[in-house]
Amino acid sequence: MSSAEQVLKQYFGYDSFREGQEELIGSILKGQDTLGIMPTGAGKSMCFQVPALIMEGITLVISPLISLMKDQVEGLNQAGVHAAYLNSSLTAGQYQKALGLAKQGRYKIIYVAPERLLTDGFLNFAVEADVSMLTVDEAHCISQWGQDFRPSYLKIAEFIEKLPKRPVISAFTATATKEVRDDIIDLLLLRSPTVATTGFDRPNLYFAVQAPKDKYASMKNFLQLHPGQSGIVYCLTRKYVEEVYGRLKDEGFSVTKYHAGLADGERKANQEDFIYGRMDIMVATNAFGMGIDKSDVRFVVHYNMPKNMESYYQEAGRAGRDGEAAECILMYAGQDVVTNQFFIDNNRENQELDEAARRLAAERDRERLRKMTFYCFTNECLRDYILRYFGEYGNSYCGNCANCLSHFETVDVTETAKAVLGCVLSSRQRFGTTMIMDTLHGASTAKIRKYRMEENPYYGKLAKIPVYKLRKVMNYMQMQGYLHVTDDGYAIVKLTEKSEAVFSGKEQIVMKMAKEEEHPAKVKKERRRKGIAAGYADYEFTETQEAMFEKLRALRTEIAKEEKVPPYIVFSDKTLMHMCISKPATKDEMLKVSGVGEFKYEKYGARFLACVQE
Ligand code: ADP
Ligand code: ZN
Repeated sequence: MSSAEQVLKQYFGYDSFREGQEELIGSILKGQDTLGIMPTGAGKSMCFQVPALIMEGITLVISPLISLMKDQVEGLNQAGVHAAYLNSSLTAGQYQKALGLAKQGRYKIIYVAPERLLTDGFLNFAVEADVSMLTVDEAHCISQWGQDFRPSYLKIAEFIEKLPKRPVISAFTATATKEVRDDIIDLLLLRSPTVATTGFDRPNLYFAVQAPKDKYASMKNFLQLHPGQSGIVYCLTRKYVEEVYGRLKDEGFSVTKYHAGLADGERKANQEDFIYGRMDIMVATNAFGMGIDKSDVRFVVHYNMPKNMESYYQEAGRAGRDGEAAECILMYAGQDVVTNQFFIDNNRENQELDEAARRLAAERDRERLRKMTFYCFTNECLRDYILRYFGEYGNSYCGNCANCLSHFETVDVTETAKAVLGCVLSSRQRFGTTMIMDTLHGASTAKIRKYRMEENPYYGKLAKIPVYKLRKVMNYMQMQGYLHVTDDGYAIVKLTEKSEAVFSGKEQIVMKMAKEEEHPAKVKKERRRKGIAAGYADYEFTETQEAMFEKLRALRTEIAKEEKVPPYIVFSDKTLMHMCISKPATKDEMLKVSGVGEFKYEKYGARFLACVQE
């Protein structure tokens, strides 16, 4: 076991790293500047917390949000790591005290707000301290291209220069666009950094779009199917929040609300009610969520369509951070487009820009809104749409979205495939995809005439199949290895050794294809439910296990109260589920459960063991 794996297990109780984590941690431990781009929930914190515990000296973590710092520090303390935060939520006295302890070397990891970096008090400490790493969390805040620009982030480079010894710099963000990435590297003055991007796919999230006549009724129905589960309902405006919240409350749902129009005190109290599990449902505007690391959110319903895919994926991505199945439902109505359009036309955020730049920004926003709207109308795989939007190539069928579960059918495309292969063969494997498709389709282009493809025996043979379908079949054949497209810059379509079996009728080609006629509104509820199971493979809980899970949850709540932390900080749902499945009987067995580290075991492992045994 590497020391990184040991730390992962000992402190956090996890057996293995997730995609990207090892590479990023390895890079940091080599002393290399590192930039990690990972979607929300992928596990960025582990990428700097693990090396922080291995390296000598202190790690400073710069983070924009007080709630985020508090949450992470609580989590670390629960895992037995000495950590603290320095931000404006502390009184002057508390701040001095924490700084004093930091000077004595009490903390391994210190979270600090960017505004503090260049203050005398903090600088005095930092130049004396042995800072081995500086981590910039939510690093996109440094970029004016990003959504949450924070001028104070621009001071980070200046701060680093004031340190007697330059620490390793690591930066993390979930925003992947090139402008933002370049800004991070340039403005933090990263030195030939390792840049690792992990896939944006979140396979445990189920996606669906609905366009119900009565949104409220539809949502209520959904909520009734998810009793006792934690979820967020996002609305576009405060007015919607108030309305939806009021109706749900009147109907007896366990619900709270959040928007910028509430007084600070109420907002904070409501947020905590939700995080600590005292309330199940949070109805909120997009003001809610940044930095909320509640891992057991089981659904995110968008009561309105948000302004762009970036916002949508970020908000929806707050579901299922524990890796368990979770649902993301978007409720569309034409009015949402109008409202968003209004926001764009009346955007006052770009006032410092000149007229031309402002117009450009508005045009860009409108384009983003269009793409968001397309998402609501596509019959294709929703996940694929999302991934393509973010520049990744997904599969055209994921099997865990409403479209895949209801708009797709299994089609035998062998005859089509045979014609494709025949056309490629008879034209002596000299042409690219477009030429083959045009020939099969019977097009009359200059190129077709030039190469006299009208005389090809397959000319016009597939005239009845729409081009886009033909393209799909060819893509699929390529993916499955029945066709090969050369990558020498000419993209010539060639046969493979698998082609023959199809051509001679020994092999059938069957694929999933989108049905055409259906509209999102027709998505069957019952089918939607099926997708949920996917996160946990094929495992089905027995009744006994369900009962055990409820008991473990109750115990967790009790302990959470004693420790004054949110329940998921004690153990995640996933950890409890693992206990139900593996039924640990001894300390060793308990330590094998994902999420049970030694420190936590010492603290309350025995109580969970006893509970499982019962
Ligand atoms: P991010 O900051 O990327 O949004 P977090 O760091 O909050 O994500 O991690 C999300 C969740 O995944 C947390 O509950 C965290 O404990 C868990 N997690 C992180 N790494 C692992 C791992 N290697 N194995 C299991 N769970 C992990
Ligand atoms: Zn899909």
